[in-house]
Amino acid sequence: MKKHNFSAGPSILPREVIEETAKGVLDFNGSGLSVMEISHRSKDFQAVMDEAVALFKELLNIPDGYSVLFLGGGASTQFCMVPYNFLEKKAAYLNTGVWAKKAMKEAKGFGETVEVASSAESTYTYIPKDYTVPADADYFHITTNNTIYGTEILKDPDSPVPMVADMSSDILSRPVDVSKYICIYGGAQKNLAPAGVTFVIVKNEAVGKVSRYIPTMLNYQTHIDGGSMFNTPPVLPIYSAMLTLRWIKAQGGVKEMERRAIEKAAMLYGEIDRNKLFVGTAAKEDRSRMNICFVMAPEYKELEADFLKFATERGMVGIKGHRSVGGFRASCYNALPKESVQALIDCMQEFEKLH
Ligand SMILES: *Cc1c(COP(=O)(O)O)cnc(C)c1O
Repeated sequence: MKKHNFSAGPSILPREVIEETAKGVLDFNGSGLSVMEISHRSKDFQAVMDEAVALFKELLNIPDGYSVLFLGGGASTQFCMVPYNFLEKKAAYLNTGVWAKKAMKEAKGFGETVEVASSAESTYTYIPKDYTVPADADYFHITTNNTIYGTEILKDPDSPVPMVADMSSDILSRPVDVSKYICIYGGAQKNLAPAGVTFVIVKNEAVGKVSRYIPTMLNYQTHIDGGSMFNTPPVLPIYSAMLTLRWIKAQGGVKEMERRAIEKAAMLYGEIDRNKLFVGTAAKEDRSRMNICFVMAPEYKELEADFLKFATERGMVGIKGHRSVGGFRASCYNALPKESVQALIDCMQEFEKLH
């Protein structure tokens, strides 16, 4: 049976990327060696790193003066690297979910941390809009896509101070005005690569301004200077990331990813709103294109386990909602084909007919 992979992360990658990665694992560039068993400083691997950086810059239209880094440690390590490197006196955070809150918690260890707004009181079903960012903050941190709650900031906000963004789960799904940010980071396992690599886009001149000592490995300058090769980088996930970036370019770039994301989200939200059995959980104006969350309508609550079983039997994978929201979450990342969204919609319609 064909599987439709809606997993939230690690998540679906383009089939071609998985096949090319597998080939490189067995025989990299016809060298007779695996990409896993050659030096990260070899000419062949350096070419992979250079291409990954160049494609990232090209696809996201990253201005001059920024570096693209591929590091270990996950987005969660960035929660502390960001304040370590940028927080001198004060930082501002928008609390839109568990990940945003975790990022904010780390900042508190480095200086005054202002929560400009929060939607915690409604289990993060919306993105707060009325807030003021202190003009004397060193940076304003946002989480552009809230993977657990299915809300998304689709337009780069205006801010009186430079922004930092966790884009773990919506990177490369829409064009971004990178010039508004001093740092954009994320775990690659949602929309880019297998788990194990973290991408960081950092503005070079924003680094080196704080007065504290920063441990070598946690200092962005180390990795800017070392071209992500200060220590051994996660070579295999970087190879896959490069292949995904090639794939995105071949498909038509980030604009095309956005067009597909809009189309897939419109299809699935359309069905959620039409079908009497289901309701969406996020405020309509803040609905995520990447993680689409829905629950059974109150009068059909007892059918939740039945629908999960029904859909699973028809090849749907990873649609169980996060435990803090319940219900269902269909993650529709770049690599998820429209046909999978249609297959889920078919399940929802068939199930409706039975009830
Ligand atoms: C998954 C996720 C994280 C955590 O990423 P790790 O790489 O596992 O540390 C952080 N932020 C967001 C928005 C996420 O979706």
